Amino acid sequence: MSIYVKAVRLADALAALAEPPGPQGGFQVIAGGTDVYPARTARIAWMRPADEPMLDISGLAELKGVAATGGAFRIGALTTWSDIMSAPLPPAFDGLKLAARQVGGAQIQNRGTIGGNLCNASPAADGVPPLLALDAEVELRGPGGLRCLPLARFVTGNRATGLAPGELLTAVIVPRPPDGERSAFLKLGARAYLVISIASVAVNLSLDRDGRIATARIAVGACSAAPVRLTRLEAALLGARPAEADVLLAAEDGLAPIDDVRGSATYRLASAETLLRRAVHGFAPARREAA
Ligand SMILES: Cc1cc2nc3c(=O)[nH]c(=O)nc-3n(C[C@H](O)[C@H](O)[C@H](O)COP(=O)(O)OP(=O)(O)OC[C@H]3O[C@@H](n4cnc5c(N)ncnc54)[C@H](O)[C@@H]3O)c2cc1C
Repeated sequence: MSIYVKAVRLADALAALAEPPGPQGGFQVIAGGTDVYPARTARIAWMRPADEPMLDISGLAELKGVAATGGAFRIGALTTWSDIMSAPLPPAFDGLKLAARQVGGAQIQNRGTIGGNLCNASPAADGVPPLLALDAEVELRGPGGLRCLPLARFVTGNRATGLAPGELLTAVIVPRPPDGERSAFLKLGARAYLVISIASVAVNLSLDRDGRIATARIAVGACSAAPVRLTRLEAALLGARPAEADVLLAAEDGLAPIDDVRGSATYRLASAETLLRRAVHGFAPARREAA
């Protein structure tokens, strides 16, 4: 039988993680459990041991909720997708909210957390592209104290993160976006809902008074080992009108999709480009009908 510990204070959780590993290994952190439990069940089904001790952090109140601080928004690691959907956030976060609405179904959105999504580091994690497009950082606490890392340096590959031994992700910090910035998130799956992304895109744009793109931050998921920002495309879009913008992917964008059961690499790239074009063109001001 596995050891199960539920921490009610952050200090206790960090102390438990600092303990030397027992015969069954170190603690496996569990937040909402929506990635941990399916993975454990799969391991057991393949007769592989799944008996490491579990550290349940879901009761840590200090890691829950969204708060506006001076120049930033702080999203606690245990904030669920449902909490994000209902949080009062500016339009620059609409892409993140759209992603939240498409993570699994209502039960998963009520349990699954933003921190769990980032730490699980799936190439198809729907939380990563919108947070990259928001220039997010992660806040980490552990034996070395408190440190912050840009999200792009935290999620470094397929299931690979910059989490050091004994550390917990405690929050996601998003610098306050400029007024007037809007955002979009589009994902393609094998069906409309309850599906892992074949490709996903997040776009944050602001327009100048003339309706031209003044700032652009763009990220793509499920088309490389970790979701990436497309800085070349971002620069190429500046000054264009959204409806007329050429949205083309290039080799320098660093996308390197794999062939798998969900789609071929070629299909993923074509899908990402189509989703990007739809997202960018969608920022065009609505045309007024003649009276
Ligand atoms: C039916 C179903 C549908 C799904 N659909 C989607 C989808 O459409 N899109 C999508 O992106 N995901 C999807 N998921 C995956 C999952 O729901 C999300 O990734 C969710 O956000 C994970 O959060 P969690 O709190 O449940 O993580 P957990 O399962 O509790 O943890 C995930 C990993 O992160 C670690 N961890 C968690 N929190 C912390 C922390 N604060 N500090 C350090 N380590 C931590 C855990 O040790 C574990 O390795 C789906 C899952 C299921 C079962």
